Amino acid sequence: MTRRRQIYEGKAKILYEGPEPGTLIQYFKDDATAFNAQKRGTISGKGVLNNRISEHLFTALQTIGIPTHFIRRLNMREQLIRQVEIIPVEVVIRNVAAGSLSKRLGIEEGTQLPRTIIEYYYKDDALGDPMVADEHIACFGWASQEEMNDIADMAIRVNDFMCGLFAAIGIRLVDFKLEFGRVWENDFARVILADEISPDGCRLWDMKSNEKLDKDRFRQDLGGEAEAYQEVARRLGLMPEGEETAVLDLDSHRKKRGK
Ligand code: UDP
Repeated sequence: MTRRRQIYEGKAKILYEGPEPGTLIQYFKDDATAFNAQKRGTISGKGVLNNRISEHLFTALQTIGIPTHFIRRLNMREQLIRQVEIIPVEVVIRNVAAGSLSKRLGIEEGTQLPRTIIEYYYKDDALGDPMVADEHIACFGWASQEEMNDIADMAIRVNDFMCGLFAAIGIRLVDFKLEFGRVWENDFARVILADEISPDGCRLWDMKSNEKLDKDRFRQDLGGEAEAYQEVARRLGLMPEGEETAVLDLDSHRKKRGK
């Protein structure tokens, strides 16, 4: 058997050539990074959980008419996706103040925002993903104004849908990051949702306890990160029967830390 060709390796995923032209295989690793890869580690089982969680969310978004790169899950760690030209802009949607917004603007973490904020960051590790305005995106040709309009419209729809989906399972969607890509159909380019949606790129807080169920557990050395990801998967109904120990684990973890 010939070894399949690796197209790209990122911090949390590897992309391989897909079985047909225009497709890729997205492999989810357990590796975790934070603070522009200054902090590195692994979260055991994260890749498997993110593959399932992202499949679930992309499939649900497709049912409301959001076009995505997701085709189907292949196995525990891999999914078949459409090849896209990634738009080098990270789109961050915020409902509640946290992270860099709280830090930069001095707004207390947990403050409900009076309206949803969309921010853009230029995807460039060497520059530390700087925040940019629409003007920069247009000026440097990273995406056209029309593409940015489609992106903002999709981001708002994704946010509204995901806020409801998570609220129904007792989770507050504080903020999250999306990436989009361009696909060519005949001579026309269309923008679709790409990358992944998982606790790696979302802030998810338990609605009652405010417990963090996302990568902040890793960023802030809170521990229990694998259990938190499992808990998200469990509430989404993605854990097989009989694997419902995550809540207990997170509780006992908190008790051990005296919180
Ligand atoms: N985010 C991400 N990748 C990045 C930067 C941010 O997935 O490179 C996500 C992050 O998980 C959070 C949201 O985008 O859900 C907003 O992140 P923020 O700007 O507050 O930055 P951070 O505090 O994570 O550095």
